[in-house]
Amino acid sequence: MLRSVILAAARSNRVERLVESAPISRDIVRRFIAGEHVDDALARTRELAAGGLAVTIDYLGEDTTNPQQAEATRDEYLKLLDALHAAELTPAAEVSLKLSALGQVFDEKVAYEHARAICAKATEAGTTVTLDAEDHTTTDSTLEVLARLREDFPTTGAVVQSYLRRTEADCRELAVSGSRVRLCKGAYKEPESVAYQSRLDVDKSYVRCLNVLMSGSGYPMLATHDPRLVAIGEDRAKWFDRSADEFEFQMLYGVRPDEQRRLAELGYTVRIYLPYGTQWYAYMMRRLAERPANVGFLARALRSKG
Ligand SMILES: Cc1cc2nc3c(=O)[nH]c(=O)nc-3n(C[C@H](O)[C@H](O)[C@H](O)COP(=O)(O)OP(=O)(O)OC[C@H]3O[C@@H](n4cnc5c(N)ncnc54)[C@H](O)[C@@H]3O)c2cc1C
Repeated sequence: MLRSVILAAARSNRVERLVESAPISRDIVRRFIAGEHVDDALARTRELAAGGLAVTIDYLGEDTTNPQQAEATRDEYLKLLDALHAAELTPAAEVSLKLSALGQVFDEKVAYEHARAICAKATEAGTTVTLDAEDHTTTDSTLEVLARLREDFPTTGAVVQSYLRRTEADCRELAVSGSRVRLCKGAYKEPESVAYQSRLDVDKSYVRCLNVLMSGSGYPMLATHDPRLVAIGEDRAKWFDRSADEFEFQMLYGVRPDEQRRLAELGYTVRIYLPYGTQWYAYMMRRLAERPANVGFLARALRSKG
């Protein structure tokens, strides 16, 4: 219930204005976001890499309806990739992108062309791109764009969400040689017709998808902070005889940093999803929805406004 309310607020411009202007929001944001500029992303990446962690950087923004904004997002990624290359932070750091920030909402072809330019730059810089998964109305389009991108850039990563009923079948399609696939639970508010609603069903689906990916011939990227699912991931790696360089764990910047270090010390690749930019509102609201314990922060943020 609380999750639904917060995810609904994630799409409200009025709540966005309130939250963005509340002073305490800055403290919450600092915990989960690298900062506003490329230099902030580079500085945090350097720190994480020095601690033995890999990184995937996301330039914040989504659901763009304006072509100039989509171009500006593409240009920001090109700048970021140049900067990562110059700082010798590739291949440890790759980038994650949302097609909705590149124009998918108004023209899938535009989003494809922009993503293509970013993939070409990533290849030049010696790294890779992963296409984030967004709400279920975009899944078919995103998987189609992914398939086209993979014709020229086969290392482009996919993301699948275990809360969607379709995902186990998608995993079967994607678990092929060379295919990088991030498995997460899913962060959007979805209807029952397409998505499991209970935690138990989402977790059970995660394990079924994990089995498909770990037993297949692709490169699974297990994105979760859930201790039970991390343990099952470790177990399946042994079961399916995957060495530590044949899959990876992924977690969000600011979430369970001790666990990130623990897994890296055990010799696993652990990649941290590191967002930066000024458009942090929708991202932050999804993080709050996942962890209702943090909602007290939000309530204080709103009260301090007025
Ligand atoms: C690298 C990465 C990339 C992602 N990309 C996408 C994407 O492209 N599209 C998308 O829809 N979603 C994405 N997500 C978000 C994802 O779908 C989930 O919403 C998010 O990860 C929360 O689910 P969870 O598996 O971590 O477990 P939850 O169900 O949130 O938590 C399960 C358990 O994990 C532990 N836990 C969780 N958070 C904490 C915490 N802060 N401190 C201590 N313990 C904690 C607790 O024991 C909790 O009970 C991504 C997540 C990650 C990690």
